[in-house]
Amino acid sequence: MKTPQDVLALIQDKDVKMVDVKFIDLPGIWQHFTVPVSEFDEGIFEEGLGFDGSSIRGFRAIDQSDMVLIPDPATACIDPFCQVKTLSIICNVFDPVSGDRYNRDPRGIAQKAEEYLKASGIADQSFWGPEAEFFVFDSIRYDQNQHSGYYFVDSVEGIWNSGRDENPNLGYKPRYKEGYFPVPPTDSQQDMRTEMVLTMQAAGIHVECQHHEVATAGQAEIDMKYGTLTKMADQVMMFKYIVKNVARKFNKTATFMPKPLFQDNGTGMHVHQSLWKDGKPLFFDANGYAKLSETAIYYIGGLLKHAHALTALTSPTTNSYKRLVPGYEAPVNLVYSMRNRSAAVRIPMYSNNPKAKRIEFRPPDPSCNPYLAFAAMLMAGLDGIKNKIYPGEPMDKDIFDLPAEEAKEIRSVPGSLDQALKALESDYEFLLEGGVFDKDVLDAWIEYKIAREVDAIRLRPHPYEFMLYYDI
Ligand code: GLN
Ligand code: MG
Ligand code: MG
Ligand code: MG
Repeated sequence: MKTPQDVLALIQDKDVKMVDVKFIDLPGIWQHFTVPVSEFDEGIFEEGLGFDGSSIRGFRAIDQSDMVLIPDPATACIDPFCQVKTLSIICNVFDPVSGDRYNRDPRGIAQKAEEYLKASGIADQSFWGPEAEFFVFDSIRYDQNQHSGYYFVDSVEGIWNSGRDENPNLGYKPRYKEGYFPVPPTDSQQDMRTEMVLTMQAAGIHVECQHHEVATAGQAEIDMKYGTLTKMADQVMMFKYIVKNVARKFNKTATFMPKPLFQDNGTGMHVHQSLWKDGKPLFFDANGYAKLSETAIYYIGGLLKHAHALTALTSPTTNSYKRLVPGYEAPVNLVYSMRNRSAAVRIPMYSNNPKAKRIEFRPPDPSCNPYLAFAAMLMAGLDGIKNKIYPGEPMDKDIFDLPAEEAKEIRSVPGSLDQALKALESDYEFLLEGGVFDKDVLDAWIEYKIAREVDAIRLRPHPYEFMLYYDI
C-alpha cells in the first residue's frame, strides 16, 4: 500500500463501508474516529480531516485547538474487529494554520529520528525488534469507592473461582515464576494467543513465535520480526490493539502494565536494535567482544550514558519501577553483557550470522509510547557513536559475587518515575540534535507525567498503608 490510489482501490476491492482514522496521543494510546467511505476521497490525503486537539491528552490548549489528520497510505489495512467492513489507517497530525507537522505528534518525532540517522552518514537504516510481553487475566472489577481502584477477581489474588462450593483448586495452575513454559492444560491460553497471532498476520504483521511467559497463569509473549523504526512503532500499536481485543473476545482482559503482580515477573518490552548502511549490518565484527563492532560498542556507550534520561521515555509509568528490581529477569544494572540478564544491555548470542548481530536494551516496557521510546534510544546510541562513548568493560560475572567496593561502582536504573523524569530534565540535549525532539514536547511530557501520574500516586493513600498503619 503506497499511494492514496492504492488505498481507494482496496476500499473498492473489499467493499469497505467505513474508514477508521487513528492517531497517537502523547502517552501513546491510539485515538480514533470513523468516516463513511462516501466522505473519504483522494482530497483527504492533502487537505486532511479536522479534529479538536484540546481534548487529546498531552496535546493543545483550548485556544488553539483545531488540528488536522492526514492519513498515511502505508498503514492501511482492514480493521480486524469491526463488524462492518472498515478500513483502518494511521494518520499524521498537522497544524492547519501554519500547515506544519504538529511538533508533539509522536509519529512525527519517530520519522524525524529516521531522517536524522540518514543525514548523520553513520547509517541509513535502523532495525527494531521489540519483545512485547503482557498478562491476560480472567476478569476485572472496577470499584470506584475503594482506595486502590482496581481489584482483580481471579488470578491476581490466587483465588480460582470454581463456581462450586469447594476450596480453590490449584491443579494445573503455574505458580509464580513457573509459567515458562509447560504445555496445556497448564498453559490454558494457547488457542487465544494463536488467535492473536492469526489476527496479526491478517493485519500484515510478520510474527515469529508466541509463548507463555515466566509469570504465573496468563503471562505471554508474541514476537514480531524486526522492522524499521516508525513502521515497528506502528506495529506495536496494532499489536496492543489486537492483543486487547482478542482477549476481550475470549471474555478476558489483557494488560501491558509493567508489574501487575507483587513477587512475580513483570512485563517488559526488551528492544533489539541494530544499524545498517548500504544494505550491510554495522554491528558485527568477528573479532570483537561478543562479535560486536566498535560502532556497536559506542552505541551501547550512548545507551548506558543516557540510560537514566531514557527510562523516562522507555519505562514511563510509576508502575515501571516496580518491575525494575532485582530477582525478576528485569534489568537493574547499567552494564552490558552477553550472559547476564540483570544487565541493561544484553548481547544475544543465538546466531553467528552478521545480519543477526544486534544489541538488546532491556529496561523498556510496553507502557511506553513506542515512537518516542525508539526515537530516544536511537538518539542515545548515535550520541555514543558520534562522541565515541566507551561503555567500560562488559560485566559477565555475577554481580552478587563482586567485592563490595567493585559492586558499589555499578550504576543502576532509576528507582522511580520521579527520578527518571528529573534525569530527563537535566540530560535532554542529545534528544534535541537535528531537531528530532524539541524542548516543548519534552517539557509537556515531564509536566504530564508529574501531574497525572507521579503526583496522582504520591498523594493517594496506598492500600498497603492501611495494613501497615491503620492499627498504629
Ligand atoms: N519479564 C521479564 C522482564 O520483565 C523478561 C523475561 C524474559 O523474557 N526472559 O523483563
Ligand atoms: Mg523473548
Ligand atoms: Mg520475554
Ligand atoms: Mg529478551
